[in-house]
Amino acid sequence: MALIVQKFGGSSVASPEHIKRVARRVADTVEQGNSCVVVVSAMGDTTDDLIELAQKVSAVRPAREMDMLLTTGEQISIALLAMALQDIGQDSVSFTGWQAGIRTEAVHGKARITDLDPSRILAELETGKVVVVAGFQGITDDGDITTLGRGGSDTTAVALAAALKADLCEIYTDVEGVYSTDPRVVKFARKIPEISYDEMLELANLGAAVLHPRAVEYAKQYQVPLMVRSSFTTNPGTLVKEEALMEKGMVVRGIAHDLNVAKVALVGVPNRNDNLKVVFQTLAQDNINVDIIVQSIVHNDCSDISFTVAKDDLTRTIEVLGQLQPRLGAKEIVCEEDLAKVSIVGAGMISNPGVAAQMFQALTENGMYIKMVSTSEIKVSCVIDAADVEKAVQVLHTSFGLDAVEAATVAK
Ligand code: ASP
Ligand code: MG
Repeated sequence: MALIVQKFGGSSVASPEHIKRVARRVADTVEQGNSCVVVVSAMGDTTDDLIELAQKVSAVRPAREMDMLLTTGEQISIALLAMALQDIGQDSVSFTGWQAGIRTEAVHGKARITDLDPSRILAELETGKVVVVAGFQGITDDGDITTLGRGGSDTTAVALAAALKADLCEIYTDVEGVYSTDPRVVKFARKIPEISYDEMLELANLGAAVLHPRAVEYAKQYQVPLMVRSSFTTNPGTLVKEEALMEKGMVVRGIAHDLNVAKVALVGVPNRNDNLKVVFQTLAQDNINVDIIVQSIVHNDCSDISFTVAKDDLTRTIEVLGQLQPRLGAKEIVCEEDLAKVSIVGAGMISNPGVAAQMFQALTENGMYIKMVSTSEIKVSCVIDAADVEKAVQVLHTSFGLDAVEAATVAK
């Protein structure tokens, strides 16, 4: 008998009919001889609707009260699913985050799980019940309710799977698994049968919304095998695990793109050994996340320091740099906004030289101008003009042999 944690996202529990269908699926899993813990998100767009509601009554929206409000969404889902299960003869019980033993740090809106005591869940599983747990929430040591950040139900599911030493964590969603790229951009995107934690983490951090990055981090840390699959079909999905097989002759697993990129450059900074330290320490103190950094020596005594930030951070970045400018003696601050980052990810790069070269060739041959580059062991990213991004993804998808034979079916 296996212990399986199943997570159903908002689109899988969007209506009473959806909830009944999920109940049937869970009951089937139990009938096949498994124990089941189910994590659910809020129904459909409930979380967004609740945020809108808050915006109508408050300009400030204190983070503690936002957490109190948003966690009600998941509480609706757990109660309804537990009822629907009992209706079809499957004994079940619903738990909020704190009832499930999920402790978090005292940070509202994006808390990390610090501890998970699964004893109450284990006791209920012993009696043959399905335990339905509210995703996305926990409780601080002082008894305040917190949330784990948007999309955080994935993290709840993986954390529970780790604490319960579950055999498998299934993430049910409205797509059939993890795709080589966004099927809305590339018609011939292919479903990936297997992917490693590291590759999935890169893709999730690069904006593949199918899994919450923190959930993948957790899964890697505790070696929880993850299966991403559709709640609307019984097709096999994508298995995320430590080491994944690569199809013969392929080096790239997936391609991601991100339009939330702005480039800032400090031009003509008189050379001093601590310039980089000063700039990036100051930005870090202001909580500004920096991505790609390039320093180029222009003359013997001067350099340019360029880097990228998220678009929402651009205004603050320029303010902070403006204050630093006199101290650094930089000639000017320039920025560029209509940019995008396109990235190729694949563990096969470690042992195959020439992958970056192939990427540069594919982009430049097709008339695209590469403005910045960054690499990791298993990733190459290029910053290009935003207007080129879809073409870039398509060109790279073909160049690295990822095009599927059949067009992917896109749910939404
Ligand atoms: N309901 C939350 C959200 O919409 C958490 C989740 O769905 O994972 O972000
Ligand atoms: Mg999600």
